[in-house]
Amino acid sequence: MKKLQLLPVGNVDARLLEWLRQALHEKFHVPAEILSPTLDPSLTLHAERQQYHSSEILADMQRYINGSTWRLLGITGLDLYIPILTFVFGEAQMGGSSAVVSYHRLRQEFYGLPADMDMLANRLLIESVHELGHTLHLTHCHDYRCAMAASHAVEWIDIKDSGFCEDCLARALQTA
Ligand SMILES: [Zn+2]
Ligand SMILES: [Zn+2]
Repeated sequence: MKKLQLLPVGNVDARLLEWLRQALHEKFHVPAEILSPTLDPSLTLHAERQQYHSSEILADMQRYINGSTWRLLGITGLDLYIPILTFVFGEAQMGGSSAVVSYHRLRQEFYGLPADMDMLANRLLIESVHELGHTLHLTHCHDYRCAMAASHAVEWIDIKDSGFCEDCLARALQTA
């Protein structure tokens, strides 16, 4: 059976990664494993922005895809961007096999607030489900509670559920 493979990009909190692996395994009903190599993102750093280009990370991730890959999800604590946006929480290949998600701006500390591990983990799960949804051909959803709702700020993530609404779930099951 093909696996959901989690690939650490740079230094990633090991406890958070293992928690996410288990949670995504339960959400998607596929075996999930953490790959032992860590992707070195240093070539995707753009010095003038001090951010990492998510499309370049996705491109570099392709070499880890093999016959046992269901989906490959890169996880990073680094700040990601694409050129037209200030930042992104993640990026996915629409209908493809890979996605990357960042928890840099999911941390309460980023906003000057005390750390909250449970909140961070829940936000990371929602955004991981969101990006994996794009790999299942799902587009953004108008139901603000659905994991596929667009979110450009953490406040919008916090009102989302970590699952798909009925419509998105039905569409995802057609392509999974
Ligand atoms: Zn999206
Ligand atoms: Zn939906």
